[in-house]
Amino acid sequence: MVKNKKSIILLVLMVVLLVLISSRMSPQQVRRPNAPTVTDDPIPETMPPVETEAPAEATPEPTPYITEILPNVSRNDWNLKLVNNTYVLAYTFAPDVVAVRDDQYFDARAADKLEEMLSAAEAAGYTVCIRAAYRPFSTQAYLFNGRASQIQWGTTMTLLEAEAEARKIVAYPGTSEHQLGLCADIMDNKDTTMKAEEVENLPLLKWLREHCAQYGFVLRYPKDKQEITGWYEPWHFRYVGEDAAKYMTDKGICLEELIAMF
Ligand SMILES: [Zn+2]
Repeated sequence: MVKNKKSIILLVLMVVLLVLISSRMSPQQVRRPNAPTVTDDPIPETMPPVETEAPAEATPEPTPYITEILPNVSRNDWNLKLVNNTYVLAYTFAPDVVAVRDDQYFDARAADKLEEMLSAAEAAGYTVCIRAAYRPFSTQAYLFNGRASQIQWGTTMTLLEAEAEARKIVAYPGTSEHQLGLCADIMDNKDTTMKAEEVENLPLLKWLREHCAQYGFVLRYPKDKQEITGWYEPWHFRYVGEDAAKYMTDKGICLEELIAMF
């Protein structure tokens, strides 16, 4: 009986041991607590994203060209507004202008800069005279039509032919930068005819070429850009703001070329 009892106890112990072993071997217990299952998040937080480990050369650096060469300006800045045969001003365009010297008018936002530049030229010993600055559409139309009539007078030309000739001398209404109010034709007297080659080397114009950028101005129609701008006028200075003026002067580019970079 005692032997039987011992056998039963041994049997029970073996059964318990077997149950214990089999329960430790069950799949739920074998799996590590953090091991992913099908229902887990497909990218566990503990797994580093593969993309961030891309090789250094695959990380695109900002293109040095863009950051290096473009000044901190936008083509939509009021002072960079482009007016030419392609970018034509509406006849209703009317900037806010104020009176400046020589009975002329200039954009109110830049008139101080113009005066500052001209005063500096005077301080450097030059006589300064604004021959033309802001021109409303009607004045430009009057000038253009007058020149076309003059060309046509006494010839067999049609008006269209005369206007085509006039366009080589006077900007067609809407295409003149003078309508913007941001440019001035500057000379050292009120009277002499303005012939580009003859006045190119006037000491005043040379001084202005060298100093205008620090006041935010550029020589808008230099001879070497005539193919782009359509004009050669060594007296015509345009306000573009200091950043753009310095950049354009440093790089030797005209406004059309600057705008084309944006
Ligand atoms: Zn001009």
